[in-house]
Amino acid sequence: MKKPRLGGKPGSFPPYLFRDLDKKRQEAVKKGKDVISLAVGDPDLPTPPAIARFAAKEVLKPANHCYPEGRGTLRLRKAIAAWHKKRHGITLDPQTEILTLIGSKEGLAHLPFAFLDRGDTVLMPDPCYPAYKTGILLSEAKIKRFPLFEKDGFLPDFDALPASFFKGAKMMFLNYPNNPTGAVGNLKVYAKAVAAARKHGFWIAQDAAYSEIYFGKPSPSIFQVPGAKDVAVEFYSVSKTYCMTGWRLAWMIGNPGAVAALTHLKENLDSGQFNAIQETTVFCLENHDRLVKPIREVFRARADFFIAALEKAGWTVFRPGATFFVWAKPPVKAASLDCVYRVLEQASVLITPGSGFGPSAEGYVRFSLTAPEKRIREAAARISRIDWSKPK
Ligand SMILES: *Cc1c(COP(=O)(O)O)cnc(C)c1O
Repeated sequence: MKKPRLGGKPGSFPPYLFRDLDKKRQEAVKKGKDVISLAVGDPDLPTPPAIARFAAKEVLKPANHCYPEGRGTLRLRKAIAAWHKKRHGITLDPQTEILTLIGSKEGLAHLPFAFLDRGDTVLMPDPCYPAYKTGILLSEAKIKRFPLFEKDGFLPDFDALPASFFKGAKMMFLNYPNNPTGAVGNLKVYAKAVAAARKHGFWIAQDAAYSEIYFGKPSPSIFQVPGAKDVAVEFYSVSKTYCMTGWRLAWMIGNPGAVAALTHLKENLDSGQFNAIQETTVFCLENHDRLVKPIREVFRARADFFIAALEKAGWTVFRPGATFFVWAKPPVKAASLDCVYRVLEQASVLITPGSGFGPSAEGYVRFSLTAPEKRIREAAARISRIDWSKPK
């Protein structure tokens, strides 16, 4: 019998990047070390009790126990449209421009199957969230990266790319607010992306999973750019917004043809998300401001003191405008993985190497401030005591 393997070209799925790192972490734990993990982007805060209580009642309703409507109930899609109207001032048709997803990771990984043929080219930011690669590799499409630099605030500088860069591209991923850097997008950058997409005929998939964890001005939607609906889709998620990573619900908005294509694929692939969670999402959207504000404040406060502590210890930190990540370089020049190992060895703090998000991020590391405050303070104190002159 043939050995099972993932689709795409043989060997195109690289081995899990953090395998070695996790082995080192387990070794440290075995030695009795108290390891603080700031590696995984999963909020430690529980889902707000008001949401959980609402969901508990929905779970008990027999009407919610059947297969849901794949693309999401009309009630939910109407609530999503109303929320975007209020939040971004944009108008969406709940019938044709909104698709409910089981999570945005699922949607982002499946979308390439709707857009791409084998051998097509996809433009991908470097660094970026690793899940974008999944659908691209399984579609046997090609990846072309565009770098994000600190000098540009980790926004793409489309003008600096050669004119030939966009030629033949079928799709581009964008992700603002950005994981791993914490950068926030703006309408100028979105307008440039939309203009390029219209000119060269490619789709834009803009991942807004962190849209609500912002610290300054509310992060914009790509659909605030006129004409964006001709070429773009955008992803939103309850996961980070309401600390609901275990519940799973997200949605894609935008171009009706793209919404129809992914709906068609997903109707043949899954049966949507539990109605109780769809109903709960309506509750979340209708009570958005009061639910999200405290969550946003917690992450802002954590970022403030953690960044101050890192800077005091000689680190170079990119000031995040959003997300719960801190993107930084250590006091001495070091490769990302090297820095991660030294922080683990000397401070028993586990962090993520920037190089895992793309080659342009070599030298950076990512801290995820998703541990209780006391643990983050302890981590900062230990990191401050690292002796960088000590040989590894
Ligand atoms: C966490 C995360 C997601 C996944 O969100 P789900 O809706 O829980 O699947 C998507 N994009 C980015 C950048 C993320 O960090």
